[in-house]
Amino acid sequence: MRIANRSGWKNLLIWTLVTVPLVAVVASTSAADLPAFTPDSNAARSAIPEVFKWDLAPLFSSDEAWDAARLKLLQDIPGLEAYHGKLNDPASLRACLELYFRLHSDGNFVTLYANLRQSTAQSDETVNAMVQRSLAAMDELMQAAAFIRREVLTLSTESLEVAYSAEPGLAEYRPYLDNLRRRANRLLSPEAERVLALLGDNLWAEIDLNEIPSPLETAFGALLIDIPWPEITDEEGEKVRLNLANYGRYRASDNRDVRRGAVAALFGTLRQYQHALAATLAGQFQLDVDYARARGYDTALDAYMDKDGIDTAVYDNLVSTINANLPLLHRYVELRKKALGLEDIHLYDLYIPIVDGVAVDVPFAEARSNILAALDPLGADYGAALAKGLDPANGWMDLYPHRDKGSGAFSASVYGPHPYVFMNYQDSLDDMSTLAHEFGHALHSDLAMKVQPYAGFRYVPFLAEVASTCNESLLSEYLVSKATDAAEKAYLLVERLETIRGTIFRQTMFAEFERRVHGYVEEGTPVTAALLEETYSDLVQRYYGPGYTFDENDGMEWAYIPHFYYKYYVYSYATGLTSGIAIAERVKRLGKPAAAAFLAMLAGGASAPPLELLAGAGVDLTKPDALDAAMKTFEETLDQVEKLMEK
Ligand SMILES: [Zn+2]
Repeated sequence: MRIANRSGWKNLLIWTLVTVPLVAVVASTSAADLPAFTPDSNAARSAIPEVFKWDLAPLFSSDEAWDAARLKLLQDIPGLEAYHGKLNDPASLRACLELYFRLHSDGNFVTLYANLRQSTAQSDETVNAMVQRSLAAMDELMQAAAFIRREVLTLSTESLEVAYSAEPGLAEYRPYLDNLRRRANRLLSPEAERVLALLGDNLWAEIDLNEIPSPLETAFGALLIDIPWPEITDEEGEKVRLNLANYGRYRASDNRDVRRGAVAALFGTLRQYQHALAATLAGQFQLDVDYARARGYDTALDAYMDKDGIDTAVYDNLVSTINANLPLLHRYVELRKKALGLEDIHLYDLYIPIVDGVAVDVPFAEARSNILAALDPLGADYGAALAKGLDPANGWMDLYPHRDKGSGAFSASVYGPHPYVFMNYQDSLDDMSTLAHEFGHALHSDLAMKVQPYAGFRYVPFLAEVASTCNESLLSEYLVSKATDAAEKAYLLVERLETIRGTIFRQTMFAEFERRVHGYVEEGTPVTAALLEETYSDLVQRYYGPGYTFDENDGMEWAYIPHFYYKYYVYSYATGLTSGIAIAERVKRLGKPAAAAFLAMLAGGASAPPLELLAGAGVDLTKPDALDAAMKTFEETLDQVEKLMEK
C-alpha cells in the first residue's frame, strides 16, 4: 500500500513519441564504494552524503530553469485555442492532441520537480510557492483543454475511423481516445455538464479522483482536528494527550492497559461526535449516488467502477470470495490469542507483534543485494533495470530521512527521465520491504515508458499496487527461504499474515461497508449514526469470528476512517495485493513464462483496459482463482507459523 500522499500531480506521468531501447546493464556502485552512513531523522540534509540523494537534473538543472519552463508552458497553453471547434478535421485532431500531450508532459515535469523539491524541504516557503505555481499552471492547462474532451466525445465512430486512416499518426492516441469514448453515452448536455462541474462532479475528471476533496471530506477532516482528544496513561504512568498521529503507536503497545486505554479513549470520543461524523459520511455517500444518478447509472458502485473500466463483477467477486475464506481469518485471530497467552482477544490485541521483535539491522547495501536476489526470477532485463535504479550513484533515490523531509515513501515518474524513489530508509526489515515495494512502482513506469508512447504509458491506479506487492511477496518468499533462525522465520511469516490481514481482509471489510451504506442511500434508508454503527459492528463480528471478544465501542471505528471518502477506492488495495501474490506464486511455480507475462503487463502501461492487461499476466479478477491463491498463501503461512510456535 503506502500511498504516501494524495496531494497534487505527483503521480501523473508523461508521454512523448520516442521509444527508448532497453538500457544496457550498468554495474552497480559496490557496497564497499558507498560511504558508511547511519540514518538519523534529525540530521540536516547537508549531513547526508550526496550519493544518497536523488539527482533532479534530468528534470531541470536549477530552480531558475524550472521557472523558465513554467513560464514557457503558460505562454504555450493558449495555442490550444486554435483547434477549438475544429476537431472533426483529422489533421487538426492530430495536431491538437500532439500539442495537448506535449503541454501535458511539460506540465508534469514542472509539477514533479516542484513536488520532489518540496518533499525534502517541507517548511521552505519558496519551495511551497513553487508547488502552488506548478499546480496553477496545470489547472490552466486543464481548463484550456476542456473542449478537447467534449469534441472528441461528440465525434461519430465513422468520422473517427476516417480520421485514423487519413492521419496514421493518430493511432498513437487510440488508447486515450478509446478510453475517453468508452463512456460517451454518459456525457450530458453542455449546460448539464457545466452545472455538474460547478458542483464538483468527478466522474469525468482527468485527474485522480481523490486529488480534490469534496466539501464533506473537508468537513470531516476539520472535525477530526477540532475534536478535543482526551489524555491517556502511557507505559511510564504519565498522562499523554491522545491524537490520531500517536494512536497507532499506543494501540500497538505491549502494555495491555495502555493499548486498551487508547482504543477506549479514541472510540469513546468518536461516539460523542457520532452525529456530526455520520452526517459528513452520509453526505459524501449521497453525493456519490447523486453524481452516479445524474449520468444514468443505477448505483454509485457501477459509476465509479466504470470510471476506471473495471467490471463490477471484480468487486462482487472480491467480497464473496473473502467472505467464503473468513474461517482463515478466524483461525489467525485464535492463533494470536494463543501466541499472546490471552483468555480473550479484543480489537486492541490485534495490532501488537506476536513474535518478539527480531532486531535485525538491514543496512541499505544488504537490502539492495537481497532485493536483487529475491527478484532474480523476473529475469535479466528486469534485474538490469533494477540494479541501475538501486545504484545510488544513478540518482533515482532519495534514501535517508532528515529534518524537514516528508514522511513515508513513494515513487514518481515523468515520461523520459528515470523514475524517482522517495524513501525514509532506517535500516529495518520493514524499510527493506518498502524499498522493494517502491521499486515495483518505479520499474513499472520504467518498463512502460520504454515500450509505450505517451498515450499508452500511464497505468491506472487499479493496476498500480500489483507490481509493488508482487515485489514484496517475492522478497518475503526469499527471506523466509534464507532464514536460519526459527524466531526470524516466524517473524517474517507473521509479517506476511499481517500484510494480508491488513490489506486483503480489512480493506475488503471496508469495501463491504462502503457498498452496504451506499445501498442504504440508494434505497432511501436514512443513514444515521446508529445504522452506521450497527452495520460496522456486524462486519467486525463476522470478520473476526467467534473467538473474538466484541467490545461495545468497536462499531465506532467507521467514524474516523478517511478512506470511506475516497469513492470506492479501498477495494483496489485488496485486489492489488491479491494479484501481486498470485503473480509471485505463478512466477515461483511456472518460472520464465509467468515472469515474461508479468513483465508484458508492466510494459503494457495503459495500452489496453486494465483487466485485459492483468489477464495477460494470468490473473482474472472476475473469477475467484487469484483470491483463492492469495488465501492459500495465507493458509500455508498460518500452518507454518503454528508449527513454529509448537516448537
Ligand atoms: Zn504502493
